[in-house]
Amino acid sequence: MLVLSEADVADVLPMADVIEAVELGLRAQAQDKVVQPVRVVVRNGAGMFGSMPCSIDGTGLGAKLVTFFPDNVRLGLHTHNAIIELFDPQTGVPSALLDGRLITEMRTAATSAIATRELAREGANVVAMIGTGVQARSHVQALQTIGMLRALRVWGRTPDNAKKLADWASGLGIKASVSATIPDACRGAHVVCTVTPSTIPIVEDADIEQGTHVNAVGSSAPSMQELAPGLVGRARLFVDTVEGAMRESGDILAAIREGKLPPEPELVRLCDVVVKQAQGRRSADEITIFKSLGMAIEDVACAAVAVERAKVKKIGTEITV
Ligand code: NDP
Repeated sequence: MLVLSEADVADVLPMADVIEAVELGLRAQAQDKVVQPVRVVVRNGAGMFGSMPCSIDGTGLGAKLVTFFPDNVRLGLHTHNAIIELFDPQTGVPSALLDGRLITEMRTAATSAIATRELAREGANVVAMIGTGVQARSHVQALQTIGMLRALRVWGRTPDNAKKLADWASGLGIKASVSATIPDACRGAHVVCTVTPSTIPIVEDADIEQGTHVNAVGSSAPSMQELAPGLVGRARLFVDTVEGAMRESGDILAAIREGKLPPEPELVRLCDVVVKQAQGRRSADEITIFKSLGMAIEDVACAAVAVERAKVKKIGTEITV
């Protein structure tokens, strides 16, 4: 079995290739070539542990095991940690074990980049980033990779972290500034990315102008929320899977509870937009929201590419279990 560390994964997977791998996974999903149950989540009081298995015809069989422990920040540890195990699709024999933390970081932003490319209005390149952590940086890299990030406004709960993110983005050649409030960051932005673990809405209905595309990434459990129910009810909604969104998205469930969405709202799968089976943006002034929850196929598609590349470059460690 080939073992790839985080450094090995970084060595073989640039962002452009992660975007390509995720897109292949989405195309397979749209063509019914994947088996992917809604993830199983176990909570132990300190954090969340998720198990995310899937099969992608012709690409791979595997699972990601991922944890989210928000208090790790105080320990100087990553809040998300993960491993990905791949198995031979013909024999079921374990074939590779990879660090999954970096793939989680990159594939999430890659998926948002694909959603932005498909759903944001023509010429969109002014981005508001709400949150300043790992996902915020990765989203900057992914949006810059697809050429949709000219100007960046950063809002962060901790102003120092917002400044650090803006300074780092400036170093990448982006016109970046810190916004004192979320409404300030969103005003005039073509794309808004929310990347916080907030449990209450932090982006209000009035903050989002017509024509904006929102990547709502942070709220990944029913107990979490970033967007006001009125905003969710006013937008066209795009999701990774309908079952996952109806079970896990605090933003969508709250909007249904508050009567801003019907009990069975229209949720369009991003994969169907990618293959043109469903319509994306219909007009320059509608609000589109991609409610991202993350899918196993994104992880396994990226892991499969990483393993292929690592074998060619002869990196990683072979072990027998
Ligand atoms: P980090 O811990 O690296 O960053 C979290 C950021 O959110 C920090 O800027 C932090 O601010 C800010 N923050 C924390 N709590 C609040 C709050 N109550 N209100 C406003 N801001 C807050 O996490 P990641 O960037 O890795 O992940 C961000 C979110 O994305 C998480 O909720 C995670 O579950 C979700 N996620 C979703 C994925 C998907 O596939 N959809 C995949 C991976 C993550 P400060 O600097 O002050 O601490």
